[in-house]
Amino acid sequence: AKSQGRNTYCFYQEEMSREVMARLTLENALRLALAREEWVLHFQPQVHLATRRLTGVEALVRWQHPEQGLILPGRFIPIAEEMAIIGDLGAWVLRAACRQMQEWDALGCAVPRVAVNLSVQELERAALVPLVQEVLRETGLAPERLELEVTESMIMCEAGRAIETLRALQQLGVSVAVDDFGTGYSSLRYIKNLPLNRLKVDHAFVQDVGRSHDDDAIVRAIIGLGHSLDLEVVAEGVEREEQREFLQREGCEVGQGYLFGRPVPAEQIVARPLADGAR
Ligand code: C2E
Ligand code: CA
Ligand code: CA
Ligand code: CA
Repeated sequence: AKSQGRNTYCFYQEEMSREVMARLTLENALRLALAREEWVLHFQPQVHLATRRLTGVEALVRWQHPEQGLILPGRFIPIAEEMAIIGDLGAWVLRAACRQMQEWDALGCAVPRVAVNLSVQELERAALVPLVQEVLRETGLAPERLELEVTESMIMCEAGRAIETLRALQQLGVSVAVDDFGTGYSSLRYIKNLPLNRLKVDHAFVQDVGRSHDDDAIVRAIIGLGHSLDLEVVAEGVEREEQREFLQREGCEVGQGYLFGRPVPAEQIVARPLADGAR
């Protein structure tokens, strides 16, 4: 039994070091990626549920790995957060998203708004507000056309700084959306006092609406909550027409999901020409 224990231990250690190696390799690759700016933004349409008109796009980052091709954010964002390089990556994303809006404008393509995801570390950094100001100035983008997405847990646990930052952002005219709503642990009394503009219903709740009474009731309640707080409600992960119908009937304003379009490179976003004076 003893020798077997030792073998198990050796095996375990080998597994461990393999994992550690893989992790180190990934970290080094990420540092290189940052230096080489191996990022690319994809954009997913958000549409008015009743008319399917484009209300905006969400910018979603991908890592354009020289050998492995496109890598989705789930594989590198959490590591970038732990490595404390998320600030630099986030700044790149913000700037690239706003520049893209400038480019669309120049092409006469009416993308009303771009939403950018924030990580908790970015929200806590005092540098966020001046960064946003700088990028808006640089690109000439109207602040109302930029939205920042934060999750419930980001604003709930780190109470102090995060809320001040959100207030300052709103004062700039930038809007704030609470992402993945319903998955965190928000206190309703608390959320009432937060500087928010939109609420994004997490796709986990949207998945079975129209076919599950429980999920129908939950989503109906979230939409009602959003409206009673004067927030516009966006449903995430809308994949089927039956979901769209339900959501529209319940008064949800905006939808995002494969039914309307997957995240795609900027060139594939098609919008109507900008109306005069809309810039
Ligand atoms: P998220 O903010 O909740 O973004 C929505 C995710 O759902 C995206 O995954 C999108 O591709 C996926 N999705 C969209 N429509 C559908 C649908 O109809 N069905 C299903 N099953 N999925 C759908 P993606 O692009 O892999 O991004 C994953 C997460 O990575 C994002 O979740 C966000 O939390 C994070 N992320 C992405 N870009 C950034 C970024 O620039 N900065 C930060 N901090 N996080 C980012
Ligand atoms: Ca998001
Ligand atoms: Ca989300
Ligand atoms: Ca999410």
